[in-house]
Amino acid sequence: MRVFQNACLVTVNSDFDVIENGTIATEGTKITYVGPHRDFPGAETVDCSGKMIMPGFVNGHIHMPMTFFRGYSDDMNLQDWLNNRIFPLEAKHTADTQYHGALLAAAELTRTGTTTVNDMYLDGEQVARALKEAGLSGTVSTCVMSVFPDVEDRFRSALELAERYKNDPDIRTAIAPHAEYTCSPKDLRYWGEMAVATGQPIHIHCSETRTEHEECIERHGMTPVELFESLGMMEAKMLLAHCVWITERDMDIIKAHNASVLHNPCSNLKLASGMAPVPRMLEKGIGVSLSTDGAASNNTLDLWEAMRFTALIEKANYLDPLVMNARTSLYIATRGSALALGYDDRGSLEEGLRADFIVVDLDTPAMAIPTNMINLIVYSGNSRDIVMTVAGGEIVYDHGEYRKLDIERVCRQARDDFENIFRDR
Ligand SMILES: [Zn+2]
Repeated sequence: MRVFQNACLVTVNSDFDVIENGTIATEGTKITYVGPHRDFPGAETVDCSGKMIMPGFVNGHIHMPMTFFRGYSDDMNLQDWLNNRIFPLEAKHTADTQYHGALLAAAELTRTGTTTVNDMYLDGEQVARALKEAGLSGTVSTCVMSVFPDVEDRFRSALELAERYKNDPDIRTAIAPHAEYTCSPKDLRYWGEMAVATGQPIHIHCSETRTEHEECIERHGMTPVELFESLGMMEAKMLLAHCVWITERDMDIIKAHNASVLHNPCSNLKLASGMAPVPRMLEKGIGVSLSTDGAASNNTLDLWEAMRFTALIEKANYLDPLVMNARTSLYIATRGSALALGYDDRGSLEEGLRADFIVVDLDTPAMAIPTNMINLIVYSGNSRDIVMTVAGGEIVYDHGEYRKLDIERVCRQARDDFENIFRDR
């Protein structure tokens, strides 16, 4: 048993309790006590005086191996960026480069307080390896597009991945067709059936840009959400990334099928894709998971930053400072995000849940005056003040030290790959 003493606890439980001078006890991967100060004689104790503890972040949409492309092709629009810069570069990826890129992402996630992710990339196996090595957890997937010449092999390996991790305590899998504009209706229908048959969610990009949304209507006479429903894909749990341009009717379909939206405010801002109507989605009772997207389009994997952005942009989007408050932003970054992805065992500080949390220094200029801890977290806090990350009951980051990863090796490997494989010459 390990006990974290003398901390301010921001629980994000159903009452949003904030407990001054609280205690958290963990055993194995679980939280066994959360509440006012209590002594546990004989337990290993971590003194958290002057610190705050909150749930680890849950990142709903990420492409971990894209860390190589950070800063490589900025200030472009999505289709130009994807077709002329990112897709040709991604064709150079090997299993090793994906693994190394995902390790670099895992280090950043650990450092910035994310403990669970939902990833989509070319080879989900490499992301799963990196997550496990870093002590993190999440859902991984091997992305498929009908335009790949070897798409059948890739889909077969996606099914093998699911089989391999079927009983893993830390890794889940999803079926991941890339998007409507890269997949044929025939393939989408088949992959949807396979998702249902194997009990996996579907993770897909959806209505990210106006062009994509309108071209789908031209091609099929339907929006992407309507098309997915017509193909039977909504029978599986759908995790829809972006949904910037979805209609009221799309939202009703999403709600009716208990699908979830993966919201990427920073990526949507950077690629000028637009602003997703998140307050309207929440009003309709749709599950929303806050996300960063890949490092090439954000360019950080810092969900704390996304949490601040999501509150700010919706206020400007709706010209209403009340439309998205700090509490909602914190919720969709933690507990709400976990539930939207289908994880009911994490995302808040509660007994019986997975011990995924972060310890944050309050002896900093931005956090020193404890006026309202939730407002401070969202509007003035920063992931740089995280001093410890606990994932599945294990301390994976502690005052600048990565406990699971050799950070010098991780950075060196990634730089070597960049020099040998990806750098433009
Ligand atoms: Zn994406």
